[in-house]
Amino acid sequence: MRPVPLVLPLAGLPHRVPGDTDAVVVGGGVAGISAAVVLAERGVRVTMVEAADTLGGRLGAWPHTLPDGTRQIVEHGFHAFFRQYYTWRAILRRADPALGFLRPVVGYPVISRRWPDEDLTGLPAAPPLSLLALFVRSPSLGLRDITGADRSLALELLGYHRERSTPALDAMPAGKFLDRFGITERARSMLFEAFARSFFCDPDALSAAELVAMFHFYFLGNPEGLGFDAPDTDYLSCIWTPLADHLTRHGGRIRAGAAADTVEPADDHRWRVRVAGGAQVTARHLVLALDPAGLRGLAERSPGLRRVGPALAERAAGLRVAPPFAVSRLWLDRDVAPGRATFSAVTGEPTLDSVTCYHRLEEPSRRWAATTGGSVLELHSYACVEPDAAQATARMRDELAALWPETRDAVVRHQLCRYEATAPSFPPGAAGARPTVQTDARGVRVAGDFVELPWCAGLMERSAMSGILAANEVLAEEGAAAEPVHGVPQRGLLAGWTPMTRRRR
Ligand SMILES: Cc1cc2nc3c(=O)[nH]c(=O)nc-3n(C[C@H](O)[C@H](O)[C@H](O)COP(=O)(O)OP(=O)(O)OC[C@H]3O[C@@H](n4cnc5c(N)ncnc54)[C@H](O)[C@@H]3O)c2cc1C
Repeated sequence: MRPVPLVLPLAGLPHRVPGDTDAVVVGGGVAGISAAVVLAERGVRVTMVEAADTLGGRLGAWPHTLPDGTRQIVEHGFHAFFRQYYTWRAILRRADPALGFLRPVVGYPVISRRWPDEDLTGLPAAPPLSLLALFVRSPSLGLRDITGADRSLALELLGYHRERSTPALDAMPAGKFLDRFGITERARSMLFEAFARSFFCDPDALSAAELVAMFHFYFLGNPEGLGFDAPDTDYLSCIWTPLADHLTRHGGRIRAGAAADTVEPADDHRWRVRVAGGAQVTARHLVLALDPAGLRGLAERSPGLRRVGPALAERAAGLRVAPPFAVSRLWLDRDVAPGRATFSAVTGEPTLDSVTCYHRLEEPSRRWAATTGGSVLELHSYACVEPDAAQATARMRDELAALWPETRDAVVRHQLCRYEATAPSFPPGAAGARPTVQTDARGVRVAGDFVELPWCAGLMERSAMSGILAANEVLAEEGAAAEPVHGVPQRGLLAGWTPMTRRRR
């Protein structure tokens, strides 16, 4: 299996836009920077407007001084940079052509109190070998465990085909899909629930179509195998500063700390973005690359946008966010046991979903730990049931102590806890209702991880793809060649063969 070209430039079109044109990109996360970088490289005068003081959105990073005076860069949370994120990696190559800041993260264990660890890495890349290896190797997916499985649903996993799988499975909650799947509690917990919760919701609040699509993207249709990389230093130093430099070198302007208040049509087929505080920017093209609630709020505050883009406004109004997630970074007075993996997914706990040993991952944390003899851990709860950051942190610490007893008596030298609801939700029955890149408002495009794309891709990759598609729409309108996009094969091995398909024929 190889990466599949999803968009290729048409021969004969110029690389740069032939005329003089401009664009405003609202939102400086993965989606916004992907759109802005491509547009600026092609000669579009780009202004990026970002509400926060630093770029990055949910991948953002910013300076923080510890009580002991050490200056650290802290982040929104650990991210896994999977190797089939071809589009996002292509943008990251603008920061470092060799992607030298990405290092393989060895092992990807799922840990639980009830069952032995299960390592999901090292599977052969190509299906059906990847699936067979998963069954042969995984202690939780032995043959005994799948004898009760509903084979038609098992084949749905192997037969992913967006146009067919989405209508067939979208209305079903992922939890019900797993119930009907008939696998054991252990296989369900170790393989599927930890995976489903990494999409920021409980399996009952996630569409089965989304679960199957993501299983295809990460496991079965992934030419790269389930390995991933992570930056060896903080995201500000290796991603956001170099990408901002790249953008400005290509003539882009970045206005951070500038929240867009309204966007309204202006004279001469232009758009006016009013920024909190009164300033304004106008441009011919507008890319809205906000988080879901940000887009919904902006559309609510912008009557002119609603007037010329009623379908966009309706889709934006219908956007829902996932439950809050909690990210707690702890600076501890001691290290954890030497065998602990750098990143572990956790299953079976009410609150804790993953733990990352930052002092074994990123340079600033490594340095702090080496100086103090301590460790830096980050605990995540992706669909948090606790009411606030303090209670989420306390609960995650208790659950961690049950899994890693050496952390029970560790003294917390410092902690930084965040709790917010900014992730999109993909509930049952919602496919087809989310905003698309193209809109009915002339000159306006939407990008972000909540956007309906024509392809199957994981979260950061979805943001990057939607950003590039938004840029491509502008390039097409201006008569320039498209930026290429690659993805995983878009159909499973048995697409066209699954029982649901045959039933429909
Ligand atoms: C803890 C955590 C762990 C994650 N782990 C992974 C992972 O391992 N792998 C993966 O693929 N994905 C992961 N994700 C998801 C990933 O971070 C997101 O999918 C991605 O970063 C979304 O990028 P975006 O540009 O679409 O949106 P955002 O990052 O939300 O960017 C939107 C931007 O718009 C700005 N904005 C909002 N309103 C306004 C306004 N009015 N004016 C101007 N700007 C505005 C925001 O400040 C923000 O910067 C994780 C997310 C979290 C929170």
